[in-house]
Amino acid sequence: MKPSSRHLATCRRCGAPICWALTTAHGRRQPIDAAPTDKGNLGVMQGPDGVLYVRTITAARPELRPGEWQAMPHHATCITPPPRRSSGTGQRARSGVRPAPWQGRP
Ligand SMILES: [Zn+2]
Repeated sequence: MKPSSRHLATCRRCGAPICWALTTAHGRRQPIDAAPTDKGNLGVMQGPDGVLYVRTITAARPELRPGEWQAMPHHATCITPPPRRSSGTGQRARSGVRPAPWQGRP
C-alpha cells in the first residue's frame, strides 16, 4: 500500500514529500515520509473516513495489519528539524534575522 496522491504534501522545511497522518494514540497530526519503507517504525493506513492513521509498530505488535504500510516519521529524516524547546543545548543555526538599529527621523 501507498499513500494516495491526495495525501501528499510537502515539508515546509526541507521540501521533501510527506503525508500528514493522525496518530491513533493521541489523534495528533504527524508528518510521515511519503515513501513507504520497511525501516520505518510506523504503521500507516487509510481509515474509512479517508484520513491517514499512524501507529507505532512495537515489539509486541510488529506485524502489519491488512492495508497498512510501513513508514518513517518525517521528523527522523527531515534535514532541517524544528528546534526543540525542551533541549537545553542552544542551537547554533539561527536565522540571520537581527533587529537592525532603527533610525528615527532626522
Ligand atoms: Zn522536512
